[in-house]
Amino acid sequence: MTEEIQQHGNAKPISLDEQFQPVNWQENRQYFAKQIKIFPKRVRGFFRTIKWWFMAVLLGIYYFLPWLRWDRGPLAPDQAVLFDIGSRRFYFFGIEIWPQEVYYLVGILVASAWGLFFVTSLIGRAWCAWGCPQTVWTDLFVMVERWVEGDRNARIKLDKAPYDFDKIRKRVTKHILWILIAMCTGGAWTFYFMDAPTLAAQLMAFEAPSAALYTIVILTSTTYLLAGFAREQVCTYMCPYSRFQSAMIDKDTYIIAYRGDRGEPRAKKPKDDNYSNRGHCIDCTQCVAVCPMGIDIRNGMQIECINCGLCADACNNVMEKVGLPKNLIGFDSLANVERRSKGEPEVTKILRVRTVFYAAILVLMSVVMMFSLANQQQTDLNVLKDRNPVMVTQSDGSVRNGYVLKIMNKLHQPQEFHISLTGLPGSEMWLAGKDEHVSQHLDVTVAPNQVEDFRVFVLLPKDQIAFERKEIAFIVQNPSSGETVSEKNIFVAKHTNPRNLYGRK
Ligand code: SF4
Ligand code: SF4
Repeated sequence: MTEEIQQHGNAKPISLDEQFQPVNWQENRQYFAKQIKIFPKRVRGFFRTIKWWFMAVLLGIYYFLPWLRWDRGPLAPDQAVLFDIGSRRFYFFGIEIWPQEVYYLVGILVASAWGLFFVTSLIGRAWCAWGCPQTVWTDLFVMVERWVEGDRNARIKLDKAPYDFDKIRKRVTKHILWILIAMCTGGAWTFYFMDAPTLAAQLMAFEAPSAALYTIVILTSTTYLLAGFAREQVCTYMCPYSRFQSAMIDKDTYIIAYRGDRGEPRAKKPKDDNYSNRGHCIDCTQCVAVCPMGIDIRNGMQIECINCGLCADACNNVMEKVGLPKNLIGFDSLANVERRSKGEPEVTKILRVRTVFYAAILVLMSVVMMFSLANQQQTDLNVLKDRNPVMVTQSDGSVRNGYVLKIMNKLHQPQEFHISLTGLPGSEMWLAGKDEHVSQHLDVTVAPNQVEDFRVFVLLPKDQIAFERKEIAFIVQNPSSGETVSEKNIFVAKHTNPRNLYGRK
């Protein structure tokens, strides 16, 4: 009754060897076929339990993280995780990232990508199965659908039935619940960009900023459409990861696979329970009925398979009932299939060139990231030299150069900084507008959480001028923390071609 509905019309078996071949898009044009309705059946088992746990933990983190508080003092937000667009900061518990430090975010993303490559090379598409938001929200929507409309057979029956009161009631209830979940999803996203309690109060009073409202509308719509309707189509057609995963998988990668060497030739369950001249697969299609992608794992590795293992749970339940050993479907590698077919023992090869390479890069990146975050500077300095005029000759023959020092104070209290200059003996400097304070050292105060500009003049007496231009360095020290930062620049003592100012020819 159900095969034509359940079986994914696009499922084209692709072996692991074939996966290493370039995709022939002409041959695969059937990928743009009409969506086939899939009604995954409920299943219990090891992989389903893992999926429930991942779903609960990931959704819990997503919805509740913006409500977690983190004390940073009176002059900083107390939200543990916040993308503060207004002040252009990213707060993550004790870590604070400024726009100038966006390389930290890039580093985290790149390290995450290597982590994904590493896990994929070990156990296939674990991310798709348990961690991807598309999978998690689709699972949640299917759970609601099952709760309202019943399990697989009831849903298929309802789908075929004409619209009556019961069908309309169930469909309306399902879509209302889906929309509520989608709205919570969109709302939770905006809480990461503004103080969550403040924005929640504004939303309830219909006073939320329009940007927040637009974001909620867009994310509500996309969640409702992608998790409610597009579902497996996103994984098969829209997500690039399913296409390039084969680059990370080899014959020793453990993937969810049907052990054809044990299961074939398949046939209906024998009445005398004699399996001596046949395979263990009793062709009950339970593995197909539970598959969220609507494919038959017995056709070999397929691009649609997200490695969720629900077919393994279904088959294990069947094997238990008929008194056969479990794991007819389970984690297996193509290399072990080959070994078993030759009568050789199975071998688990975790240490392979690609896994070691991915792990080494991941460890290296993680160490570098942790070291740099642990030694994150609370002060930063940027020096801009006046270019017009590059230098000014005073009436007594001394030469003056002007600079703008941008000093960043990332701490949440005002900080005093001590500015000094190296590389220019005999020079003096002062802050613009305070000519009377000519000194070789300057003291300035920077407000908390601010970048402040200080215009500094450096003066070199006539008797010290024996060069055209010279490299100097401004040093900024925070006496209370001992932190010191410096930046090089140049001092121009004689008129020079502006094109050659920084050594360009
Ligand atoms: S074939 Fe099995 S592992 Fe692959 S998506 Fe379907 S249920 Fe999940
Ligand atoms: S659930 Fe197991 S026994 Fe049933 S069809 Fe699938 S592989 Fe065969």
